[in-house]
Order: sequence, then C-alpha cells, then structure tokens
Amino acid sequence: MAYVFDPIETPSVAVTGTDQRFPVRRIFCVGRNYAEHALEMGGDPDREPPFFFTKPADAVVESGTTIPFPKSTNDLHHEVELVVAIGKEGENIPVKKALDHVFGYAVGIDLTRRDLQKQAKEKGRPWDSGKAFDQSAPCGAISPRSEIENISTAKIWLTVNEESRQSATIADLIWSIEEVIAVLSEAFILKPGDLIYTGTPAGVGPLFLGDHVTGHVDGLTPIDVKLTS
Ligand code: MN
Repeated sequence: MAYVFDPIETPSVAVTGTDQRFPVRRIFCVGRNYAEHALEMGGDPDREPPFFFTKPADAVVESGTTIPFPKSTNDLHHEVELVVAIGKEGENIPVKKALDHVFGYAVGIDLTRRDLQKQAKEKGRPWDSGKAFDQSAPCGAISPRSEIENISTAKIWLTVNEESRQSATIADLIWSIEEVIAVLSEAFILKPGDLIYTGTPAGVGPLFLGDHVTGHVDGLTPIDVKLTS
C-alpha cells in the first residue's frame, strides 16, 4: 500500500507496568455527569439521558507534556475526568456485563474552549470548536482494570499551580461507569482502543499561560501538563 503522504502515527497512551501502549481509536466524552457541575453550567442535575461528544484520537496528550496555549480562546477551562479505556468490542452491552469490556482506567483532562462552546450552545451549533481542538485530551497512564479496586468510590481532584480547584468522588457520577458503557454501546459499536471521558465534577474554571495542571483519581497515575506560549 502506498500513500500520497505518510499516515499519522497511531495515537497511544502509556499503560502502567509495561512498555506496551494502548492504541487510541476514538475519544468519547460524556456531557454533564455530575449534578453540581450540571448546575454550574446552567443545566438540569436530574438524570436526563447521558449525551456524548467526541474528540479526535490524536488529541491525546501524554502526562508531563508542555502544551502550547490553545488558539482562538480567551476562556480555556480544565475538566478533570475519569477515563475508561475499552479493551473488548461490544454493542448493546448490558450494564451487568459492561466492566468485561473495560481494559483499564486513567485520569484525563477534557480541555475546553468555554467561550467557543458557549457560542455553539447559544446558536445550536456543534461543539467541535469548543471541545475537539488539538491537544485537548491530556490522558495519564492507563492502569489495567485487574489492578484497580473500588474505582467507583475513588476520590477525583484537580489542582492548578498546586491549588485545589475540583474535588469530588466517582460515586457522585449521575450515570455510573457501567451505565455509560451500556448507553454508549446502544448507539456505537464500541471497539478496543476507544476511550470514554466520563464527565467532570463541579469547580471547572479558567487556565492561563504558565499554569501547571494536575489531575488525580485515587489509585491511578496522575496527569500533569503545563501551558506555555
Ligand atoms: Mn467534560
């Protein structure tokens, strides 16, 4: 097979305890999945059905990366999220079988150009400009599911320049990990390599040039990025 130019290298994420990497196929993100965040965004904190948006696979960013401050925004926001890495194909996956499809878990940051997202919402346009830009999906190393206990009650938090900005527990998810997988798999055939950013708790806010952002979930490898000019 000859291409007219070299295809991009497969985007991938580190896996703890091995040199082998997790090849990323798609990035799905859940909107408004913590009640207090739904409220702070002016939404409904009740169990409205989960909704999804996507980012390109090559938006993933390794921990330790210095990211050029994103273009075209005056209101870049951090959203710390638990990331579920899919390791087994499935469609119409029952809630009870959902975890069988999980390869592992990571901490991610759904970087958001909130000003562009807000304009899109107001005009009923797609969210891509606000959400799916270059390097918008920092993702820490994935821990295999077999090595992680009690993820559903783990603490999740984010600091900016070592100051606490977001703090919650995975137990606060409106739609659980299993439910998110079940609902998403009704509309898409999930495949190995898919990542699911499961939503962010309250406390989202602006980032500035020079900021050092660190996201954590108890038991997982933190994600750590800096913003530069
Ligand atoms: Mn998000």
